[in-house]
Amino acid sequence: MTERSILLGNEAIALGLLEAECTMAASYPGTPASEILRALASLKERHKLDLHLEWSINEKAAFEVALANSYTGRRSATIMKQVGLNVAADPLMSAAYTGVKGGFVLISADDPGPHSSQTEQDSRLIAMVAKIPVFDPSSPEEAREYARRACALSEKHEIPVMLRPTTRVCHARQDMDLRPVPHPKQFPLFEKNPGRWAATPKFRLVLHRQLNEKLARISRDPDCAPQLVNGDALGPGTRDGGRACIVGSGVVTAHAQEILGELGLWDRVPFYRLPMPYPLPESFRDDLLSSYDRILILEETDPVIELQLQNREKIFGRTTGHVPTAGELLPEVVEGILRSFLGLDPSPPVEPPAYPGRRPTLCAGCPHRAAFFAIKKAFPKGIYPGDIGCYTLGLNLGVVDTVLCMGASINQAAGFYHAYRSARRDMPPICATIGDSTFFHAGVPALMNAVVQGARFVLVVLDNSTTAMTGHQPTPALGRNLDGIPVPRLSIAELAKACGVRSVAEGDPYDFDRFLDLLKAAGRHAGAEDGGVAVVIAKRPCLMDRNQPRTWPRLRIEVNEKCKGCDFCVKQFECPALRPRGEKEPIVIDDSLCSGCGVCVRVCPHGALEAVSEGH
Ligand code: SF4
Ligand code: SF4
Repeated sequence: MTERSILLGNEAIALGLLEAECTMAASYPGTPASEILRALASLKERHKLDLHLEWSINEKAAFEVALANSYTGRRSATIMKQVGLNVAADPLMSAAYTGVKGGFVLISADDPGPHSSQTEQDSRLIAMVAKIPVFDPSSPEEAREYARRACALSEKHEIPVMLRPTTRVCHARQDMDLRPVPHPKQFPLFEKNPGRWAATPKFRLVLHRQLNEKLARISRDPDCAPQLVNGDALGPGTRDGGRACIVGSGVVTAHAQEILGELGLWDRVPFYRLPMPYPLPESFRDDLLSSYDRILILEETDPVIELQLQNREKIFGRTTGHVPTAGELLPEVVEGILRSFLGLDPSPPVEPPAYPGRRPTLCAGCPHRAAFFAIKKAFPKGIYPGDIGCYTLGLNLGVVDTVLCMGASINQAAGFYHAYRSARRDMPPICATIGDSTFFHAGVPALMNAVVQGARFVLVVLDNSTTAMTGHQPTPALGRNLDGIPVPRLSIAELAKACGVRSVAEGDPYDFDRFLDLLKAAGRHAGAEDGGVAVVIAKRPCLMDRNQPRTWPRLRIEVNEKCKGCDFCVKQFECPALRPRGEKEPIVIDDSLCSGCGVCVRVCPHGALEAVSEGH
């Protein structure tokens, strides 16, 4: 009997890559893509596969490492989220020209919604700009299948191929068959060909023409052809002569399929699903436009299919205002679109989701909260450039003023400094924050730039020894790679010194008073005549990281009679374990949440919180 299992979309993608005999995968974590490499690591272990897997320092590095493997004729994958693809855009554009040897799959997971991203961008448009084919799966099973197809197509046509799952595919679960995972046999062989691999601009023109020819061939590949998914169900006269049809790609087609069934229209409206929304076959475009009067396009997030269909009069979609231009196409949204397109009664209005009871906040006892509280105390009138990570939630504490993209906090701190200095205005203190993983990702070049341009500010590196937000992937400071094998360990302090920073200090934010002193000293260095950028490393492991030993005595917090119920601690410190009970009522500690860090003792201005040691 065939073995079956319920797999997460990201696990299904990992399986598809191994079924395609990928020998290398490199990634930088980012929701919703983070579980793909983790699933590859556990499959590698379970099936004793000889693969190289790595959490790279950023997406550009991940892309370039995996690409080199493909140059040797072996199959590779590089994995990131849509915002990460911006970081890897440079090698992507060039790799489309040079092409690849072994199959090379670029997985860029999109986040329509957006649920946990700075943007709602559509990676399929970047595939169009780069001129590479893109697969858009609608379910975990399809994502597994398309991972295999993408790898094979890439190798057949020697071109990088994108697989673009979205959050709802990555994080959905589906029951599917398990088949034996093959052991890759391809031996690496790099055949020198500088005309291609190191092409000069003149030859790049030739490569561009070849790329265009490849795309034309790929668009005719029967393996990637659009499917009329309800062809067997359609009644006579509907299939060819129907006046209206629906065309789509991605998870929105799964919603639409279900809704058409519920509305009793599955056998009446031709419905095309496009595995590969770019490049569209010319014959399909012509047939579609000549066979139908009204064509509804359903796709997330941007009008990639629509842009390839040039008859504006027949198209109904995002460019015509029939499909919303932002936000996730949830089933209730799709139902409204279908009803309006098909001339049915509008669906009853959907109640907006109830506002969540509490806004997202840092975990109880999170060391970042202690560091932020100290920053606010040290620099009460400061400007606080922030960055991307769980510590972005410092927003709630009023200690994150800007959030742009990975590594931007340092560049923005420098920008604020130069702006104030050149305008000869009173200089407010500037204190930027960045996580340890983000520092390695994009902070180091920014710090070098800030130093050599003479900027002055305090930079707090919130070092919790992991990439916490995306599932505790290792950082280069850990000294272990993805396989747990010891590798050289990079020191944030030494890197900061190598960037030219002369004031580098390290402290534990749980040791609140000493940490506060370090911040004030850093502020003095930044403001002194012979000063510069000062770096303070707030070092305390993430509480949620099971790989980190617990190295502090757990404290039991008691609320004494001095508590005035002013709720200062609740409002200014926001530890979820501190529970208000109403005006002037003493607060209570929720022992089920309290981690026993003891920092709140330093927060209460009335000395109403006391700590009793409970040991480790
Ligand atoms: S000790 Fe205080 S700050 Fe730490 S988790 Fe418990 S309530 Fe929160
Ligand atoms: S513990 Fe202190 S800060 Fe919190 S409500 Fe009581 S008196 Fe106010």
